[in-house]
Amino acid sequence: MNLNPDLQYIMEDLPKLKQLIGIISSVLPDRHFIVDEDGYIITRFGNESGEGFFQTTDPSGKRVSEICKPSLAKRLMDSIALALEEKVTITIDYCMDLEGVRLYDADSSGPTGAQWFELKLVPLDKSIFDRPVAVCSNRNITERKLLELELKVLATTDPLTKLFNRRHMVSELENSFSRCKRYETPTTVLMLDIDFFKKINDTYGHDAGDKVLVEFSLLLQTHHRDTDIVGRIGGEEFLILMPELPINQGVPMADRLLDGIRNIKVAFEDQILTFSASAGISEIKSTDTDFNLVLKRADAALYQSKDNGRDQVNQK
Ligand code: GH3
Ligand code: MG
Ligand code: MG
Repeated sequence: MNLNPDLQYIMEDLPKLKQLIGIISSVLPDRHFIVDEDGYIITRFGNESGEGFFQTTDPSGKRVSEICKPSLAKRLMDSIALALEEKVTITIDYCMDLEGVRLYDADSSGPTGAQWFELKLVPLDKSIFDRPVAVCSNRNITERKLLELELKVLATTDPLTKLFNRRHMVSELENSFSRCKRYETPTTVLMLDIDFFKKINDTYGHDAGDKVLVEFSLLLQTHHRDTDIVGRIGGEEFLILMPELPINQGVPMADRLLDGIRNIKVAFEDQILTFSASAGISEIKSTDTDFNLVLKRADAALYQSKDNGRDQVNQK
């Protein structure tokens, strides 16, 4: 260790203290290392059985850029610089796969079996080392992260159809609305409602109705562009947000979708159920002051489709 010479003697005079620090850090689950402002890892200490990005080899003497994927190395270097400059503790999360060598940003969902870590960077000034360094404490937070991801899925997903729920669709619409306003790109909104759905429930039972909803949702999931966002916003009401798509291109897509819906055959007990849906389509307008306005127009267009005999799309 490159200790400040003035302090060297203190450490030498305090073998018991060193021993105590060693024992305390070895029983903590976190792994620690010391890194300088150039990303050079001076040493590691503490629990050697812990995990993290220096799991397989001792990273002492290496640079952060040698052992991390570039995106994580950049985040680490930016965080080290910030911790040392502002003299504050910085915390970042990252994600690593089972091979223990490839690293991912924690914002990505990561591969199956990936482990998440929380890394805390605590700045130390020159009074201890001959240059500014940060102590990094590395903790496995996979259990907490998986729970958070599970909660996020629960909060945004409809349990029956696995489509996004109404709350999530409203927040996506708000985002689309802001993007449309800022970049003047079109977004088309398609609202769908299954025709005479109550009759399916009344005739064949609630389970049959549920199966229709699931099959209907599967079709919606396969019949859209990758960038479209599909959700269930009510009992048998659905919404598709089509970013970057003008309404004149959305209408033929809606027509093809209604055609696909007409051809769905749901096997329930010894019956084959068929059904149709009505749709309303609208586009976010430059004059819209509120994202709800496009929903209202799509809803009005949908009711026009119902009034005109169902199984069709109208636009407003
Ligand atoms: P319209 O063509 O005018 O849309 O008629 P409809 O029968 O489809 O519409 P209505 O609003 O009269 O009935 C919707 C029914 O959907 C009533 C409700 O019990 C049923 N429903 C709502 N959620 C669910 C669900 O999760 N599962 C099942 N099986 N039925 C549901
Ligand atoms: Mg309805
Ligand atoms: Mg209906």
